[in-house]
Amino acid sequence: MTRRERRVDVAIIGGGPVGMLLAAELALQRISVLVVETRTEPDDRPRAGTVHARSLSLLARRGFLPAARARDIVRDAGAMRRAPFQFAGMPVLSITAPAVEPAPIAGIAQARLEAAFERRARALGAEVLRGHTARAVVAEDDLVHVRVETAAGGIGEPITARYVVGADGARGLVAGCGDFPSRAVPATMNAIAGLATSLTPDIPPGWHHTPAGWTLHNPNPGGAARIIALDFSGPAATRDIPDTGEYLQRLGTVLGAPPALADISRLTRFSDYGRFRTRMRSGRLLVIGDAAHVHYPLGGQGLNTGMQDAFTLGWRLHRVLTGRSDDSLLEDWSRERVAVAEAVVANTVLQSRMMNPAMTDLRDAVVAMLGVPVVHDAVAELISGQFQAGFQHDLVVTRDDGSTRTLSELLTAGKSVAIRPDRDTPLPTEEPGCVVATGKVTPEQPWVSALVRPDGYLERTC
Ligand SMILES: Cc1cc2nc3c(=O)[nH]c(=O)nc-3n(C[C@H](O)[C@H](O)[C@H](O)COP(=O)(O)OP(=O)(O)OC[C@H]3O[C@@H](n4cnc5c(N)ncnc54)[C@H](O)[C@@H]3O)c2cc1C
Repeated sequence: MTRRERRVDVAIIGGGPVGMLLAAELALQRISVLVVETRTEPDDRPRAGTVHARSLSLLARRGFLPAARARDIVRDAGAMRRAPFQFAGMPVLSITAPAVEPAPIAGIAQARLEAAFERRARALGAEVLRGHTARAVVAEDDLVHVRVETAAGGIGEPITARYVVGADGARGLVAGCGDFPSRAVPATMNAIAGLATSLTPDIPPGWHHTPAGWTLHNPNPGGAARIIALDFSGPAATRDIPDTGEYLQRLGTVLGAPPALADISRLTRFSDYGRFRTRMRSGRLLVIGDAAHVHYPLGGQGLNTGMQDAFTLGWRLHRVLTGRSDDSLLEDWSRERVAVAEAVVANTVLQSRMMNPAMTDLRDAVVAMLGVPVVHDAVAELISGQFQAGFQHDLVVTRDDGSTRTLSELLTAGKSVAIRPDRDTPLPTEEPGCVVATGKVTPEQPWVSALVRPDGYLERTC
């Protein structure tokens, strides 16, 4: 009997948050997309919780979060909002974002985002194959073949795609199936994160450092708190899921004595190991999210960087798949995202070194440099993802009839948006299928007319 073959434009291996978001972005562009995910249920382990300014803006552009209303944009034009943040566990940063954007920073659980992305992807027609694991990915001529195994160990229907994207995490399969060289920085410490209830005030709330390391305790009046032990005595000898005994022992090493904890659950291990792929495209294979870059979670940049990989890739794949662009567009994407990943890995390595109790001189020197406003602002923009130039902040277009549309509203459909003051002004470029908005722009911009990419960055201005 011949097995049925699934044919799609894009197969995404890995349905974590980044894979699901890319699926939603591609389905929005009406690209046929299939996600292959080992887990039968979404992953609800406590991981990312910090969503930074640029990701918040992008999420608002697609309606995952509320965007500013037209009258608020007019009222707040030019104003900035600030939020305190930490660098290397110290409260030395202040993240600034324009008041017309959602916020400088927000706490949103990774599991919530992942569930929202999956719902959106399915609603837009993406297929999600849970309980299936990709076992082989082979590129041949203009197609890529994927061999899949079911949770019961059976052979799944073979998949053939025009592009395969590896969103399959740090130890993913796809990166090993193409030419994806990497640069790595070895681990120097080990950390265990978990949920627990502290029975005594042994672990101060927030970041706390001792001569042996650091703890992070986010008290939760509604239940168990996130408590992390960061132990700088060296890297862990194993990658196994830690048990309660090791968790208490690591906390004890940092605090001087093991704390009294109850309801310990959801233990995960991480380190300051850093690695980024120096290419994120190899022919018809692409890698995004943790499959492309992993690092110390300090500053909460991992998922943020992965979400931005997805937002910047979806529309480009659409242009290439519909023949409106050649694949050099994907090469540009790879270059752009590798530079971002390199900068993120570098700042997490620096933060880890600064937190090492044996390197207090370095910590003091960097903290002193962060006192210089221009240095501080550059680091804050890097951590919050706002250092990428060319992002168009929200604005209002007021038509002749007095009706208004915000840029966030115009971008919800995932199309490019062309903006011009009146019908006599030519558009910066004729982009097929773009949304055209004609009217007075508030706040005033340094351009007369503009083409905004589906991911919110300026493509061309006049
Ligand atoms: C303690 C901790 C705190 C963190 N805090 C933050 C934070 O505050 N902010 C932030 O931005 N980031 C944070 N991060 C990082 C963030 O969690 C990761 O960057 C994020 O999970 C990456 O998402 P992803 O979709 O790329 O990969 P993953 O979440 O690893 O998902 C990969 C998926 O691929 C699937 N898969 C793998 N191989 C296959 C295969 N062969 N076939 C099918 N499916 C496969 C896996 O089952 C998994 O579901 C934190 C991480 C940790 C550990």
